[in-house]
Amino acid sequence: MLKVGLGRDLHRLVKGRRFLLGGIEIPAKRGELGHSDGDALAHAVCDAILGAAALDDIGSLFPPSGQAWKDADSMELLRRAFAVAKEAGWRLINLDCVVSCEEPKILPFRDSIRKSLAQSLECSVDRIFVKGKTGEGLGPIGKGKAVEALAVCLLTNEQLTDNNE
Ligand code: MG
Repeated sequence: MLKVGLGRDLHRLVKGRRFLLGGIEIPAKRGELGHSDGDALAHAVCDAILGAAALDDIGSLFPPSGQAWKDADSMELLRRAFAVAKEAGWRLINLDCVVSCEEPKILPFRDSIRKSLAQSLECSVDRIFVKGKTGEGLGPIGKGKAVEALAVCLLTNEQLTDNNE
């Protein structure tokens, strides 16, 4: 069986915070505000995987009200979410993502982000893609006040031959 999942996240960008995407820190004037480290891409990917597996969502698995997840490493949250899906028999076929922010540019960091996500999702990097977009100066994204991440993934409950299994 194949199952598709969709995830979306949005974080405010403020001074004095790190700008993280898929576990990679990108030099920027502002970073993501959040209860955890604020990694919007990691959060969107979590929800895509959990949604495809019809298991849960990031908010109920790692409640922002809980002190346990304060300043949490979002890639650790992603590894835990993926472990839940794997435990239920799901394997990742591919993941495609769009990150929207006015700055910084994502392209120079794209391959590092892909590698980081591939490592956490225990797959080859060719199963993961990430694209950067701007907000064309419009809305909170275009004004540099927020970053948005979208992720879509495809899971299978059959064995994959090229996934280090
Ligand atoms: Mg979030």
